[in-house]
This record gives sequence, C-alpha cells and structure tokens, in this order.
Amino acid sequence: MKSHWQIAIALSLAVVVGALAPVDSDVIAVCGFVGGLFLNALKMVVVPLIVSSIINAMSTFGDAGALSRIGIRTMLFYSATTLLAVLVGLTMVNLVQPGVVDGQPARELLGLAAGGEKVSENVSGAKLSDIADVFYRLVTANPIKAAAESDLLGLVFFSMLFGIFAARIPGSAGQVQRDFWSGVRETMMHITALVMRFAPIGVFALVAKAFSSTGVEAIRPLAMFFFATLGGLLFHMLVTMSVLLAVVGRVSPLRMLQAMTPALLTGFSTSSSAGTLPVTLDCLRNRAGVSERVTGFTLPLGAAINLDGTALYECAAAMFLAQAYGLHLDFATQFVIVAMAVVTSMGVTGIPSASLVAIAVILGAVGLPLEGLGVLLAVDRVLDMCRTAVNVYGDGCGAVVIGRLEGESGILKQPD
Ligand code: ASP
Repeated sequence: MKSHWQIAIALSLAVVVGALAPVDSDVIAVCGFVGGLFLNALKMVVVPLIVSSIINAMSTFGDAGALSRIGIRTMLFYSATTLLAVLVGLTMVNLVQPGVVDGQPARELLGLAAGGEKVSENVSGAKLSDIADVFYRLVTANPIKAAAESDLLGLVFFSMLFGIFAARIPGSAGQVQRDFWSGVRETMMHITALVMRFAPIGVFALVAKAFSSTGVEAIRPLAMFFFATLGGLLFHMLVTMSVLLAVVGRVSPLRMLQAMTPALLTGFSTSSSAGTLPVTLDCLRNRAGVSERVTGFTLPLGAAINLDGTALYECAAAMFLAQAYGLHLDFATQFVIVAMAVVTSMGVTGIPSASLVAIAVILGAVGLPLEGLGVLLAVDRVLDMCRTAVNVYGDGCGAVVIGRLEGESGILKQPD
C-alpha cells in the first residue's frame, strides 16, 4: 500500500481511538511514548539534513549569477505568499467577526479581565518592537548553539555562507569539502527513509494522544474563531496556492496535492514543519520530480522562514482578541498587525505551538494584554496541526514554482 494511504488510515483510526480512550488510559500512555520516539527520530535527522542539503545545493550552483537569481526568486515567492496568507486571515476575521457575539464584544464570555478602555489606551501608545530580534537570530553568534537548539534561522544563514565559500575553494581542499557534504547528505537521506517507514505508526500515536487530551469539545467555545481561521487556511492552500501553481508554475494543483500528501499528513500529525522537512524533501524530489539543486535550497530556507499558515493564524488571533476587547482598530494598527505577522512568522521555529510566542510579541507591539493567549490555548492544538500542514505546503509550492521558473520540465509529470 502506498505510504500516504497508510498514513491516512492511521490518522482516521487515531481520531477514533483518541475520542474513545480516556486520557489517563494505558493505551494513551503507550501512544505518548511511541509518538515521542517518532518525533525524536524526525528531530534527529533535521539538523544534519538541513546543513548538508544547503551546503550541497549552494556548492553545486557554481556561478554566483544562478545562485542570486534563484535566491531572489525564492525570497520574492516566499514573502509574497506569506503576505497573501496574512491578508486572507485579516479578511476572514473582519468578515466573520468571531470576537463579537450578538453585536457585543465577547470579552466577558471569554473570561478576559482587562477593561476595554484601558486596553484601548495601551493600543494607541504602543510602538513597533522586537523585529530586530529576527535579524539577531539570522546572524547567529554561535552556529553550534543554533544547531543544538534547532534554531533554523541562524543555521540556514550560516550553512548558506559555508556552501557559497566552499564552492569557491580551488583544488583538492575544496573538492574534499564538497565530496564530504555530498556524502553526509546522501547518508541522511537514507536515515530519513528509514524513519519514514515508521510514519504511519508515529502518526497514529501522536494524533490519538492529541485527540484524547484536547477532545473535540475544546473547539466549541471558540468555534467562530476556529472556523474563520480554518476557512482562511483552506482558502490559502486550495485557492491562492492553486492559482500560483497553475499560472506561474504551469502545473496541475491536483497533482501537487497528491505528491505532497505524505508531507501534509506528517505536518498535520506532528505540528512541526521543521520536523517534517525530511518528508517534504522526499516528496518534492521523488514524487514531484523537482531537482536536488532547487529543493536543497528552497525547502530548508522555506522551513526556516516561510510559514504561511502561522502568519495567517498570528494575524487572525490578534484581530480576534482586539474584537473581543471591543476595539475598532484603525487602518494603521491593522497595518502594523499585518506587517508584524509577516516579519515575526519568519522568525518562528517550525515546532508545535511556536507561534504563541510571536502572537505575544504582536499583542505587546499593538498594546493588547497578554491574557488573551490563554483563550487561544483552547483551540491552539488543532489549529496548530492545520497551520503546520499549510506551512509545509507553502514550502513545497515554492520549490515547484522556482523549479519551473528555472526551466525544469519533468516536474509533476511522472506518475507517483
Ligand atoms: N507548529 C508550526 C510549525 O511547525 C509553528 C506554529 O505556528 O506554531 O510550522
């Protein structure tokens, strides 16, 4: 049976088991253990795989012209799609108005204590801050520490520099470097393939545990926010991305969804787009047919900075809380939220619930109290699964579109 079917069946069984088994039962304890092992195995391959893929891709570019062309295209694609995602989130929340119930702000219903007037004073006095932090992490002071803490932003930047200059070293010293990194990458791909053989079991364990502890009821109190965000995520994935794939990439969005299925399901069940990177690389190379040159550059970079689903969620969450406090945000404040969502999403690490930190930064920047984070926690688990799948899909679309712009003709043509 094909791997995506195996994972899909595991996922459906897990929802049933998670809904039936009590959270303190032995079954769920075993699921917690097995799921933890699977997550560890994925995390184990992430850092060496990212470093070797980027260095390898960089050093195979050879001429600086090709590298800068692909670099500029990738950055443009990633920033544009993140901005589009945020605008979809903004539109959804403005249309659905989840923070308003029967014409009244939902502040009391949600148990938020801070008074509306006090909050509105803070909002008008707040300033932009913390964007500088993203740059500090990009130019990391300690690449080993960045690797140890899986801080992809600093790691990707350092590996890019390393690859660019390894390509320029003449003679055998340079050749040894390039052969070494190519060997590391090849080895890591084999280890990844081994880990992926266990994906159906890992997915089953993780989802069963998540559903038994969250339960579907947790969604109810915040249903409007939940569905507005979910609608936005689906729109971004199925409409915005499909248009870009069809118009710019000239490939079939349906075939793309098919090729990405294992990565989407792994992202959904692990809530970690960085942890899913090995699967994403595998899907794009072996199922979509994008070259190693393009995937080795675009995907690790995307895992570090391109989190469309996260950016959409950050913007929707901040707007939802502002509505719940009864604030009418002017255009300038909405603009600040959009800009902050785009920039901070680039600094969010692709691990579970990572965007809560970024939301705290945004709330602080526009002057909203942090107590709202507690409200979001009720729906965060399930929305995290969904936005992570969207994050993974965004990276994959980036690789396909850039590959097509680079003139690759075999993309999404061959049968799976
Ligand atoms: N869990 C998300 C990811 O791994 C990050 C987040 O939005 O919390 O991509």
